[in-house]
Amino acid sequence: MGKTIAFIGLGNMGGPMAANLVRAGFSVRGFDLSPASLETAKADGVAVAGSVLEAAEGAEAVVTMLPAGRHVVEVWSQLTAAVPAGTLLIDSSTVDVESARQAHALAEAQGCLSIDAPVSGGTGGAKAGTLTFMAGGSEAAFAEADPILAKMGKSRFHCGAAGAGQAAKICNNMILGISMIGVCEAFALGEKLGLSQQALFDVASVSSGQCWSLTTYCPVPGPVPGSPANTGYRPGFAAGLMLKDLRLAQEAAATAGAATPLGAEAERLYARFDGQGRGGEDFSAIIHMLRDRTFED
Ligand code: NAD
Repeated sequence: MGKTIAFIGLGNMGGPMAANLVRAGFSVRGFDLSPASLETAKADGVAVAGSVLEAAEGAEAVVTMLPAGRHVVEVWSQLTAAVPAGTLLIDSSTVDVESARQAHALAEAQGCLSIDAPVSGGTGGAKAGTLTFMAGGSEAAFAEADPILAKMGKSRFHCGAAGAGQAAKICNNMILGISMIGVCEAFALGEKLGLSQQALFDVASVSSGQCWSLTTYCPVPGPVPGSPANTGYRPGFAAGLMLKDLRLAQEAAATAGAATPLGAEAERLYARFDGQGRGGEDFSAIIHMLRDRTFED
């Protein structure tokens, strides 16, 4: 049996990530506030604990996968007050850079090793163990965490000091939100001009308009058979989660004094889409709002 790992937050992402650690031979003790998540984790071989601290007792490493920064700071406050110095803490949630740095500071004060290691790849990547991790923290913490991350993801990047993983995540997702809107606008314009979707795809996918939102995640059905547009825009990556990440990017931009006018507009458009009750649809479904012009004031 390998190391003992505590896993806090066994939801849509954390559940399958913990299951992959079990499959890799780690002894995993998990905790979640939701009884349903605990049941699923138990069926996957996770030993269910009654609290954060019960899960963490005797564990060499703790992974957290929680909704937002306040949850991470709250759970890490409990953890750092209780676990021995030298324990490795990994947060894979997507949170604001300030909370990530606060969590690192808590860990450092108690002599724990810590990394922020948010992911991309969604629930499909979590199940398949093919997530991409982008990490911030010391070299020593990253080196210690890497063999654990390797069992949950295929690519791991050490992006820099505390908070650098979250910075990489929100910058990447800001590009994604903006590029998806750009691709959707191009299809909406092409349609009005009488251009077929396939013709636009054929040209742009091998020309300078090429990007992931077009060639991997095409927002119209047909050209890329695996994209959510072909299955009624079932997520995939939900528009509500894109909005969360765009908000984090805007918060960070305001704090850092960076100009991100297109990021701000992308946030406004996704907020409008979410306000129409469509936050549960895939984020590429925003093409409907652009076609219908229902975003205009
Ligand atoms: P989720 O809501 O399915 O899971 C979060 C879990 O945390 C829930 O089960 C909740 O009960 C639990 N939780 C909350 N507070 C807790 C506490 N104090 N102690 C123990 N458990 C607690 O969310 P998710 O989709 O798994 O996402 C988790 C994180 O990963 C988020 O930060 C999200 O932005 C990020 N993320 C999600 C995706 C995705 O496609 N779902 C992709 C990349 C990143």
